[in-house]
Amino acid sequence: MTGTALAPFTADDYRVRRERAARAAAEAGLAGLLVAPGPDLVWLTGYAPTAVTERLTLLVLAAGQDPVLVVPTLEAPDARHAVGEAALTVRDWADGKDPYAATARLLDGSGRYGISDNTWALHLLGLQKALPGTSYAALTEALPMLRAVKDAAELELLAAAGAAADRAFEEIRKVAFAGRRESDVAADLAGLLRRSGHGRVDFTIVASGPNGADPHHEAGDRVIAHGDMVVLDFGGLKDGYGSDTSRTVHVGEPTPEERRVHAVVREAQQAGYEAVRPGAACQEVDRAARAVIADAGYGEYFVHRTGHGIGVTTHEPPYMIEGEEQPLVPGMCFSVEPGIYLPGRFGVRIEDIVAVTEDGGRRLNTTTREMVIVE
Ligand code: ZN
Ligand code: ZN
Ligand code: ZN
Repeated sequence: MTGTALAPFTADDYRVRRERAARAAAEAGLAGLLVAPGPDLVWLTGYAPTAVTERLTLLVLAAGQDPVLVVPTLEAPDARHAVGEAALTVRDWADGKDPYAATARLLDGSGRYGISDNTWALHLLGLQKALPGTSYAALTEALPMLRAVKDAAELELLAAAGAAADRAFEEIRKVAFAGRRESDVAADLAGLLRRSGHGRVDFTIVASGPNGADPHHEAGDRVIAHGDMVVLDFGGLKDGYGSDTSRTVHVGEPTPEERRVHAVVREAQQAGYEAVRPGAACQEVDRAARAVIADAGYGEYFVHRTGHGIGVTTHEPPYMIEGEEQPLVPGMCFSVEPGIYLPGRFGVRIEDIVAVTEDGGRRLNTTTREMVIVE
């Protein structure tokens, strides 16, 4: 009826998450959490309004207080249906009324609140004006690990999304690369992701030849040629949970140097994976992967962090980066994706999603990490 089809969680699952979030907020010294439409709201309520507009929709969560979802009157029937009428109080505000004054009555006028990162500035400014004594912290800064540890059902959904992305890779390696534009292969990839069950495609990077040396290159008009390395990095959401995997393929027979660089990245990816275990700091995963690349003499060409979390989004905490001392906990799920980028020449990236288990890590992507030769 409303929004996208979401994971099969019960009203009870969402209630437990809200209680956990409210407790975490209190422990962090916050008066509560304010959550606008987006991944946090989906995770806490299962509700994703079809259209996000200038009209305020906001979940107000505070320890010792019943959570309230504030919505515009015209969205109220959909919202009540989505969250389960009995499970969560939905309070609507009529067009023409001041939604900030209505929300202010639910808040502590001198409190500090965590507010979801993607809340429109319009709404935050409205709240600040209605309650000048309040202050705010970005939710991911205040509670970066709120959604980081996945439960068994979430892990199953992430594993299914990973397997679906892997099926897309098994198909894309069979298509013609040489003589076609990157954007053509990217369109193939998007179709394959949808066919494998992805309801949303977030990115389909096809970076050939020198474009591969730009980690942010998406896909363009460049015609792929025989002899090109091609970085493929693709993912999206399947049943509300994310996939994200990279493989670097080569059109025809690679040179010894291309083989060497690819082998270094593969070894770095393996080292990052092997560093995953409960209690290890996030930065240890980065260090393990980076050390392999630095030892091979390519340290300056690995220009990004080793990994990022994944869940109801394809990019979220925790981050595998130097300086991140957060210990890994079973149930955390993130990418391990080292790369080497040789400007003007080519790039290689290999990425798997890895879930932390009791005794190490479990790869959610299992296609070969050996260099695949395409036509
Ligand atoms: Zn080549
Ligand atoms: Zn990726
Ligand atoms: Zn990634």
